[in-house]
Amino acid sequence: MRVLAIGAHPDDLELLCAGTLAKYANQGHQVIMCHACNGNLGHFEIPRNELRDIRRQEAQNAAAVIGAESLTLDIADLDVYVERETKEKMTELIRKTKPDLIIAPSPDDYMPDHTLISRIAFDASFMATLPQLATETECHHLITPFYYMDTLAGVNFQPEVYVDITEVIEIKKRMLACHKSQTQWLKHHDKIDIIEFMITVARFRGLQCGVQYAEGFKPCRVWGRNTTKRWLP
Ligand SMILES: [Zn+2]
Repeated sequence: MRVLAIGAHPDDLELLCAGTLAKYANQGHQVIMCHACNGNLGHFEIPRNELRDIRRQEAQNAAAVIGAESLTLDIADLDVYVERETKEKMTELIRKTKPDLIIAPSPDDYMPDHTLISRIAFDASFMATLPQLATETECHHLITPFYYMDTLAGVNFQPEVYVDITEVIEIKKRMLACHKSQTQWLKHHDKIDIIEFMITVARFRGLQCGVQYAEGFKPCRVWGRNTTKRWLP
């Protein structure tokens, strides 16, 4: 199976669904991790272009931990608009990667890059199937099953499906720790220790479903996406 996980920023997937991605990878599935935005505003003093390159490398390092492919749409932070050009970029990503399953940000998350990328990924996953809508790669033959990952700190998100990530929690920590540029920044700007933040949510989601550590998801339930199969590991 091919799993395409789309995050808004370079560290979002590591924070919100990397345990599940690590399990997929362990089971021999192909995992593609895409950060739509390049993360160029995520620091006090590192200049934008330099930060963009640093964060690209950090995302690649994190993906390498589980042997996943790392891609980006290279959109500047807070430069996300629900417009044709961006949807076509996302459409091309989906056509190129040919996923059997897409994991995307929650439409109710805390900041615009997350909520808008959620919408754009959903729209593009339908657009990707339309033969007359031309992009570089030929159309994808599947209206892809689509899951929303948790929100930051789990606020405003009630999971419908849980994945037990107890066996891969150390891998998830290692992936998140690859985002070295964010550790100090998030301590000062957001008043959080990023690793502790992730563990707290994983423990809380675990408590909700009777395991030590878990990740929560919500399937996108619209016509054409519903299925009888459990897709998550
Ligand atoms: Zn983010």
